[in-house]
Amino acid sequence: MAMELFNTLGRTVVPFIPIVENHVGLYACGPTVYHYAHIGNMRTYIFEDVLAKTLRHQGLVVKHVMNITDVGHLQSDADAGHDKLMVGAARENKTPWQVAQFYEEAFFRHCGLLNITRPDVVCRATQHIPEIITLIERLLEKGVAYESAGNVYFSVEKFPAYHELGQLVLDEQRATERVSHDPLKRSQADFALWFSTSKFPGQIMKWESPWGLGFPGWHIECSAMASKYLGERVDIHCGGIDHINVHHSNEIAQSECCFGHRWVNYWFHCEFLNVEAEKMSKSSGEFLTVDSLVDRGYDPCAFRLLVLGSHYRSALAFSWEALDDVATALQKARRRISSALENNSPPGEAFSALHAASYRRFFAALEKDLHTPSAMAEFWWVIKSNELTESERIDLLRSFNAVLDIGLFDTQATRLTSEQSDLIAARNVARNERNWAESDRIRDLLLAQGISLSDLKA
Ligand code: AMP
Ligand code: ZN
Repeated sequence: MAMELFNTLGRTVVPFIPIVENHVGLYACGPTVYHYAHIGNMRTYIFEDVLAKTLRHQGLVVKHVMNITDVGHLQSDADAGHDKLMVGAARENKTPWQVAQFYEEAFFRHCGLLNITRPDVVCRATQHIPEIITLIERLLEKGVAYESAGNVYFSVEKFPAYHELGQLVLDEQRATERVSHDPLKRSQADFALWFSTSKFPGQIMKWESPWGLGFPGWHIECSAMASKYLGERVDIHCGGIDHINVHHSNEIAQSECCFGHRWVNYWFHCEFLNVEAEKMSKSSGEFLTVDSLVDRGYDPCAFRLLVLGSHYRSALAFSWEALDDVATALQKARRRISSALENNSPPGEAFSALHAASYRRFFAALEKDLHTPSAMAEFWWVIKSNELTESERIDLLRSFNAVLDIGLFDTQATRLTSEQSDLIAARNVARNERNWAESDRIRDLLLAQGISLSDLKA
């Protein structure tokens, strides 16, 4: 069966047909590396990872490209506020380059903990300034962009299909629109492609351009990098739902005006993870990271399992109770697998029709708009069923785990024992009480067992 995906463009579930047979160009908006990625961000990256793994399981050759936003993303997704990297630099008394490097490394470390495969191409905006400038020049030549006091803006009225992607959320669009008046814009709906340093005199990351010293806008970065690595036609573009109205609508406007044709065929958007009905956000200052989970003794795979129990188009209300439940369930599943491995029948056993049917049900669920909750239901059936032989069970679980990647076959050595989890909890208490001697003693104890803890503030 071919994959079916919900396309935000058109808002229906449609069969996925790649542009080039058997190949998929997949672009994901990567993190803005001015702070840790929170577990909401990671939920989106987990789904993108499962999408890529499902497509690969179908035999398609996937080229997964992810950018790193290390300049140009202002505090508001529209053109207001300061560059987030400058905000991070001021917060930590570092240079924006140091901040970007630190949080990019932290991001991929967290991805590793969550079994998110590193994309085939990871590209930083700061390393693609010439490509960005070329794209802006093309937009100026086409008359859809204009220069104003060293800034370059895209003229939204030149792209009548601007609201096509965000069609069903126009009210929200109005609410998020135009947070501040920019006298340099011909229309307040226009957005910046290039910022001059006259507007941001303190900017540290800056480059020469035909319009003077400055730095690129966030939206043009994605158009430039996606087209460099995937060409002018892209199969699937991913991101969180917050990007539909501004960032992705802007990306489409620039790219389609530049290339003169449809740019992306399928838009894949993930709903939010919320904590106590509030959306997780970095600007609010309070957020959970993968390190926060590990510090509390959780196996990151339990979080991945929690995420996969929800559908990517539904919001997930995060709670510690829910994480506790899946962590326990994961431990039970692993114990069941260990016992199945011990009682495994000799190789060469013929598998039953039940085995084939279960395999089909699991992958059919994923192929139906990446329905991970149904796939997980099948997974639990396989764990619990008395009708399967142990080798059938193991064979199915190995196939499922290729996509779920929840560490089902991890050895005990890679997981925390309950004593180790208790030690981590005790250390958290010691740190909260500012009992540094005790906290260091426990840290050294864990280090001797090969477990290193991050003390970075989350
Ligand atoms: P950022 O680093 O803020 O650009 O966001 C990285 C990715 O996470 C983007 O695809 C966002 O759309 C997505 N995202 C942001 N907040 C959340 C959230 N609370 N839940 C799920 N995804 C999110
Ligand atoms: Zn983007």
